[in-house]
Amino acid sequence: MAFPSTTVQMKKRIVALILAISVLGSSVIIGRLFQLQVVQAEDLQKRAARQQMRVTSLSAQRGTIYDRNGEILAMSGTVWTVYLSPVDIDSEEERSLIAKGLSEILDVSEEFVLEKSQRNTYYEIIKKKIERPLADEVTEFVTENGITCVGLEEDYKRYYPYGTLASTVLGFTGSENQGAYGIEAYYDSVLSGTNGQIVSAKNAWGTDMPFKYEKMYEAQNGNDLVLTIDVNIQRFVDKHLEQAVIEHEVQNKACAIVMDVKTGEILAMSTKPDFDPNSPNTIYDENVQAQLDAITDEDARQEALLEAQYEQWRNKAISDPYEPGSVFKIITASAVLEEKVVGLNNSFTCTGSYESGGVVYHCWKLAGHGTQNFAQTLQNSCNPAFISYGQALGKEKFREYFQAFGLTQTTGIDLPGEAGSIYHAEEDFGVTELSSSSFGQTFKVTALQLITAVSAAVNGGELMQPYIVKQVADEEKNVVSETTPVVKRQVISNETSATMASLCESVVSEGSGRNARLPGFRIGGKTGTSEKLGANDSDWKILSFVGFAPADDPQIAVLVMLDEPKLDDPYGSTIAAPIVKNMLADILPYC
Ligand SMILES: [Zn+2]
Repeated sequence: MAFPSTTVQMKKRIVALILAISVLGSSVIIGRLFQLQVVQAEDLQKRAARQQMRVTSLSAQRGTIYDRNGEILAMSGTVWTVYLSPVDIDSEEERSLIAKGLSEILDVSEEFVLEKSQRNTYYEIIKKKIERPLADEVTEFVTENGITCVGLEEDYKRYYPYGTLASTVLGFTGSENQGAYGIEAYYDSVLSGTNGQIVSAKNAWGTDMPFKYEKMYEAQNGNDLVLTIDVNIQRFVDKHLEQAVIEHEVQNKACAIVMDVKTGEILAMSTKPDFDPNSPNTIYDENVQAQLDAITDEDARQEALLEAQYEQWRNKAISDPYEPGSVFKIITASAVLEEKVVGLNNSFTCTGSYESGGVVYHCWKLAGHGTQNFAQTLQNSCNPAFISYGQALGKEKFREYFQAFGLTQTTGIDLPGEAGSIYHAEEDFGVTELSSSSFGQTFKVTALQLITAVSAAVNGGELMQPYIVKQVADEEKNVVSETTPVVKRQVISNETSATMASLCESVVSEGSGRNARLPGFRIGGKTGTSEKLGANDSDWKILSFVGFAPADDPQIAVLVMLDEPKLDDPYGSTIAAPIVKNMLADILPYC
């Protein structure tokens, strides 16, 4: 065990301490006792006169977060706090030597150190959370100059070795190592462990004798988490999503999810632009930073900064409900096939518009699609056909399936900040609402709700519980708990589901999803384009695509959603589908 501060006096104390407690054999305790004895001895001595007993906390080390392959996504490393005991400064000469030396090593001003050194205290923090090379420099400086009033105490700092990767999912910790956002916040009690205590008697402080403790309760370090996230898949998804945001000048962020359709495991979840959890308060979007810099009023700027920070931490995939548009036709199609109100041999003629309940709806193809069979209506994403399917299904059945596919409730994923959907209340659900809902408009769901519903449509009909933590393990890697896949309910039959997978494959092989075609792989999918509800400018759209593979036995699904790309004529089929194709081109050979 290396001690960063090694003055002669301290060395004596340390040797005495180690002899006194070596039987315990715990390096953590030794480290903390060192801190207690060396750092706080004087202070404690003073207080001991007033206190019969003293209770000192021993920090637990926060657990590590791994991806599904054992790659470290978040870990705690040892850092040090540099402190000064002003009352122990021997001379004015030593005072200026310390101020000069520490200011150079720690990049703080000499005035700052001098000001602290004038105080009549035993403990003044000069700098927190410094890392190894700096800590060694401080040790060298105090040793060489025989300084006894400067020391180092151990602390922990959170590191995220992959930087921005999955940052909106992982979250980050606060200055006291507490979980502040994302998984770090949701699983804080699992990760943080339990601090220990030293309960010590007042006597023996400050003498040459090692202090005598009454009782010591070891800190219980936090448990580790193993996520369902796969670093490689996450990296592929991040890369393509980031490119898309830049290329299409996406104004209101983009998100993507990769799900194991059979288990509900989240293999990747991405929001772009995002942030680096190693420094979560830094604004990473240059445009946003420029806007902040332009605010002259300090209070207004601080307020805007806070808002911008919350915005960049936001996990769009679970927090921002949106109109799914035509992707939702997978759900309508599943329901009508399951209820057998419309068959595969059904024929529908699209003239370009359709009247229902006194409202005329236009197909996106104004000239009309002509006469189509069921598969062709899905391939063409024909709105009039789907309005007629909705009418055939009826209000009650439509609502039943909407609910059964999990779209009326949050999924209950183990992440904080999940939003629910926004949809018509039963009493407001008339023929008009049924019509618009049938092709995915006038209601909002989250990307996570939608990919979970689509997965149910093609995985054999089971609505799965999505989850992101696979396993909790203790310090010795013993499994404390393991998440097993949960089937919430059977929504459609195995047979209908197989039909849906095959229909979706035809959307990619022959229909509007052909931009997602990938030679050598059987891919199913559906495009979505929707105008933003309440948007003043109808040019602002949300483009999305959900793809899955292999189409004959679906294993993984990928959803991509771009919120407000800047384009002349944006359609999900031309923009979002190729992004999913590029992701699958990387993911499928890897899986
Ligand atoms: Zn049509």
